[in-house]
Amino acid sequence: MKDKIFNEFRKMYSENPRIFRAPGRVNLIGEHTDYNEGFVFPMAIDRYTYIGISKREDSILNIYSAGFDESISVDLLNPEPKKHWSDYVAGVAVVLQNEGYPVSGANIYIDSNVPLGAGLSSSAAIEVSSALAFTGLNNHEIDKLTIAKICQKAENSYVGMNCGIMDQFVSVHGKKDNALFLDCRSLNYELVPLDISKAGIVICNTMVKHELGSSEYNKRRKECETGVNAIKTKYPNVTALRDAVMGYLEEVKNEIDEVVFRRCKHVISEDERTALSISALKTNNFDLFGKLLNGSHDSLRDDYEVSCKELDIMVDAARSMDFVYGARVTGGGFGGCTVNLVQHDSVEKFSKEIKIKYKEKTGIEPELFSFLPSNGAEEL
Ligand code: ADP
Ligand code: MG
Repeated sequence: MKDKIFNEFRKMYSENPRIFRAPGRVNLIGEHTDYNEGFVFPMAIDRYTYIGISKREDSILNIYSAGFDESISVDLLNPEPKKHWSDYVAGVAVVLQNEGYPVSGANIYIDSNVPLGAGLSSSAAIEVSSALAFTGLNNHEIDKLTIAKICQKAENSYVGMNCGIMDQFVSVHGKKDNALFLDCRSLNYELVPLDISKAGIVICNTMVKHELGSSEYNKRRKECETGVNAIKTKYPNVTALRDAVMGYLEEVKNEIDEVVFRRCKHVISEDERTALSISALKTNNFDLFGKLLNGSHDSLRDDYEVSCKELDIMVDAARSMDFVYGARVTGGGFGGCTVNLVQHDSVEKFSKEIKIKYKEKTGIEPELFSFLPSNGAEEL
């Protein structure tokens, strides 16, 4: 891909670029815990968004994306969100400027092999690669955490998507052969070796995306808040579900709606599963890790209610195979992908069988990926 970017950039702009890239990610476990200040356990994947960039003497960003085969110009003296893919790039430049890091005009060529909109965070990949490109080009030395925060801010305030920091954080801090355990409150993290010679991670895309996503997301956030407020009356130190245990929730059961109870139950139990999954991985206890994945899916399906028919079919099909340790939805839900932990020597068999089973039940051809845990963003 590097050579392709270099050559295409030269063709388009008649000069040599610097080239940066940032990976997408998959979340192994810890779903809907980030905005409750809890734990997540993603890994950066060996799919990247690449950016070729060279400096201009004016304030114009010329941005081309091969994925959309489209060019757009943005004047950094007068930028405005356009509800367009270029917002992800311009937004990062704007936030950098606002935080005191001037950004010059630039010619930009983007290409990516992160699937778009599949829950593998092509959005963080394009933001983080843009941030590295702009800071590299303008000689700003910025630490990794600040880069992640600037990218999150760009997505929140410029793109208008109220995401947590997980995606950008792991796209910056990811490490080859490791998953990354992140405490979304303190932003302390731990790299945990993931030995894929023993167990393979297979991602299955259901190829559906139900529209409910964003309105339901906002509802869930409110329900969690309601739960926290109820618990707070007895335990004032609880400022997020992260601070609660099941016992606290049980104590306020009669004072809250049954739905709110189940939402909180998911978050509290998911934090426990995610914390446990570290020790499971560290000891190569894939049976336990698989059980935790299964528990996560069941909780997301029954208590948090963010699964859908297609995700459940994909997960059930995976679990019917005895060489699968565990399977669950990954990402926000209502469609998108499942993550499957499969005995290493059965990955091929799994891929063949799940395609047949899923198509039999839904009529849809799923897309499958096998990723390696990879390094975070870098200049090439
Ligand atoms: P996900 O992050 O799960 O892939 P999002 O909806 O958060 O899904 O982000 C996808 C959007 O990000 C795309 O619709 C597009 O606007 C932007 N994007 C991601 N990668 C690229 C790219 N290579 N070129 C242009 N835009 C991109
Ligand atoms: Mg995204």
